[in-house]
Amino acid sequence: MKVGILALQGDFIEHAHMLRRMGHESVEVRLPQHLDGLEALILPGGESTTFGWLATRYGLIEPLRRFIHSGKPVWGTCAGLIFLAKDVGRDQVTLGVMDIRVARNAFGRQVDSFVAPLNVKGLSGGPFTGVFIRAPVIESVAPHVEVLCTLADGTIVAARQDHMLATSFHPELTDDPRLHALFLGLQLPTADHAVF
Ligand code: GLN
Repeated sequence: MKVGILALQGDFIEHAHMLRRMGHESVEVRLPQHLDGLEALILPGGESTTFGWLATRYGLIEPLRRFIHSGKPVWGTCAGLIFLAKDVGRDQVTLGVMDIRVARNAFGRQVDSFVAPLNVKGLSGGPFTGVFIRAPVIESVAPHVEVLCTLADGTIVAARQDHMLATSFHPELTDDPRLHALFLGLQLPTADHAVF
């Protein structure tokens, strides 16, 4: 499967390493033509305002929106989640495709980063290690958005809207490929998601 990873800034290399381990080719997306022929797209962690600024400069905003509207799977991790959101509670450029309201840096500063075991809907095999680095939270979702994971206090940290997946945390910084496998199966709801 040919998977693109937005490579303007952030931890795109870590996603590429995970995909390679899983036997999937990945393409670094910096310009509109890099989206040609892709079957899925990952928006990595990083700095969401920088994504907005660089994507605007590189003429990527509308091509990214078109790619996503075409129905191919897209997954935002952390800053990537923010970049997908319709509402980030402040004036910044996002793709505005996912019906979620997000609060950036919701757990505090970089030093307040943490790891927590998570139960993610649709993932078998026990808790998933959530790596939260100056992470956002999802404050609310529209009725057609499925919440996939909350912290013990009910804070939403993963959600799915049709072919769009969003996680506050960084599965690419773990050794656990289960969420990447779940993502790659999004377009094929009847397929067996377990590629391992
Ligand atoms: N704090 C960053 C932002 O608001 C996201 C951090 C991350 O991707 N690890 O864009």
